[in-house]
Amino acid sequence: KSLYVAVIGSEELVKGVNIVGAHIDSPRLDLKPMPLIEKSGAALFKTQYYGGIKKYQWMSIPLALYGVMYNKNGEKIKVAIGENDDDPEFTIADLLPHLAKDQMKGNANEFIDPEKMSVLVGSLKDKEAEAKENEKVKSNILKILNEKYGVEEIDFARSELSFVPAFKTKFIGLDRGLIGGYGQDDRVCAYATIRAIIDAADELDNVNKTMIAMIVDKEEIGSTGTTSMNSRAFDMFINKLIEKTNSMGVDKLEVYYNSKVLSADVTAGVSPEYEEVSDIQNGSILGCGISIEKYTGSGGKYNASDANASYMSKVMGIFDRNSIMYQVGTLGKIGKGGGGTIAYILADKGCEVVDCGTPVLAMHSPYEVTSKYDVYMTYLAYKAFYKE
Ligand code: MN
Ligand code: MN
Repeated sequence: KSLYVAVIGSEELVKGVNIVGAHIDSPRLDLKPMPLIEKSGAALFKTQYYGGIKKYQWMSIPLALYGVMYNKNGEKIKVAIGENDDDPEFTIADLLPHLAKDQMKGNANEFIDPEKMSVLVGSLKDKEAEAKENEKVKSNILKILNEKYGVEEIDFARSELSFVPAFKTKFIGLDRGLIGGYGQDDRVCAYATIRAIIDAADELDNVNKTMIAMIVDKEEIGSTGTTSMNSRAFDMFINKLIEKTNSMGVDKLEVYYNSKVLSADVTAGVSPEYEEVSDIQNGSILGCGISIEKYTGSGGKYNASDANASYMSKVMGIFDRNSIMYQVGTLGKIGKGGGGTIAYILADKGCEVVDCGTPVLAMHSPYEVTSKYDVYMTYLAYKAFYKE
């Protein structure tokens, strides 16, 4: 769920390290702890959405099921249904337009009741089951799960299972310039981060500044919990680095204070048919490179992590020297919304930090869109940052 990687350089840690941090959790539909119900001839899994979604976008699309379960003996069972071409898929059956007169009157925030976002998982009855007539489909699903995974109904309570879109990632457009796929926020930056640290270490004869790559969880729900950027796992990791480089006695806070961070998170690309929500001059345009976002937050910079001019100068200098095509963006027009990343958490620790990542269209939808060129620039930018 989270990963901390370092390539140890020859320079003392106290002079600071180069950090790139991304997150790998994406909006999805988690299963409720006791999810399985039967209604009107169908077995369904009740879900609870994770992260900020437009709920209607998740209706009537193919879904795949991933995660882990534990049985009563404490054994871990991996579940991945939808990976292979002959795997079944799942879906939430939305209401047909013919009967949606009342549904369509609700505003978009309300017309999908999250309690009704239950996923179809079965329809066949277990004829031999002793179960009541209206529980024979459910009973059949439990039988299948028991045969396939050796689990019982109560084991859902010791599981973490999620439905995610089952679409394959593909090139988009006649010119194949764009990439369509689920979860690019923020796996597109997470992948670029890992690729960049590996290649930077490979390409350098001598690694001077220690490089760190962080991939964290739970950003989409506010960076809470043991696997998030707000946990103390990162502090522990730095303690270990101090120990492994025989730098005992070095003040961890001084390491932070002298360190540079890129908060590697995607940003909103200017949407061609919704330009009105963006300030174009301060927007991120598809195909114009990686986007640096000096600050996030909303309204009067509330909850913003606002990078210092001196640090902007440093980062832009690195990009200029390495011919990185970059643009300077903001999330959108003031008052139209807003958002945050893990940047403020690193800033709180004392590091210089700025948000810097790939522009995305249809962010948090089941099928997000990026530009191939911007993705590649993101990788080159992170690599150049590590090498300085
Ligand atoms: Mn993100
Ligand atoms: Mn997000």
